Amino acid sequence: MIRHDVGAQFPEMADFIHGEESNKFENGLGESVIVTVCGTEEETAALLATVLDGDRTAASLLARAIHQNPATTDASTDALTVPLSPSELGIWIDPIDATSQYIEGREEVLEEGHLFPSGLHCALVLIGVYLRSTGEPVMGVINQPFNYKEPSNGRWSGKHFWGVSCGDINICSLSRPKCGSEKGRGLSAVLSSSEKQVVKESLTSLCGPEKLMYASGAGYKILCVIQGLADVYVLSEGSTYKWDSCAPHALLRALGGGVVDLSKSLQSASKAQEGQAELTYHQSQTECKGADRWANQGGLVAYRDCSQLHSILTALKGKL
Ligand SMILES: [Mg+2]
Repeated sequence: MIRHDVGAQFPEMADFIHGEESNKFENGLGESVIVTVCGTEEETAALLATVLDGDRTAASLLARAIHQNPATTDASTDALTVPLSPSELGIWIDPIDATSQYIEGREEVLEEGHLFPSGLHCALVLIGVYLRSTGEPVMGVINQPFNYKEPSNGRWSGKHFWGVSCGDINICSLSRPKCGSEKGRGLSAVLSSSEKQVVKESLTSLCGPEKLMYASGAGYKILCVIQGLADVYVLSEGSTYKWDSCAPHALLRALGGGVVDLSKSLQSASKAQEGQAELTYHQSQTECKGADRWANQGGLVAYRDCSQLHSILTALKGKL
């Protein structure tokens, strides 16, 4: 649906809309079906029913949502002019990041100001825009469909976050979180619970055990850094992809931070070089196959503050 709508509005971008998911499905009868947005709601519903083993109710509900034309919900972007032409841009889409959390569907209840280690809150829709020439992330939209559950009627409402970072224009729907430089407050980090032991140990010594947190979803962990729930997100494995990091990376840049390749940054000889290992989004690793061509192979560090990035790299140097 995103591919269809963006392609219809900006035909110059049609060949540069990439994503994690494919629109090729196999139904219970072993038939292969290519799902697209059709001319009418009824046609889309009929096509969807073929991959939903004939479940017409689900197919019609989905088709209705697809053909709805939601009004612009964010008036704050109306006055925004970005000096970029669609012919310079490409898009990375992750329609559901933290898919396993979405499927499990657990509802976690936590206090305000704390991150959610797992559950529906970690499932995000990520749409990132990059410059075709340099691979720089320039715009991002993050939608958190399960942001708040109304206790009275049990209905969920979503929340979206966006950012633009292009030349002198740096705007984010969230303001930069207050920096944690009050005396005695250490750096806080969010990791995957499957992170390497050596990384967990090095960061425990740096941050202290109470400042080390664990959460599901790569997009959600970067969102925690954007929101100031953690100062950095460190990942030593190449287990994330361009579609996971592009959108939240643009928001972090708009706030003055970024996302660097961990292994490249660890090789850099000086502090000035560290920030030059920012992830880019336009080139595939030709020596790899399939989705791995688009992996962030060297791991990553997402940060808001260069000096905090430097502390992390210093703590990890020689350990990996
Ligand atoms: Mg993902």
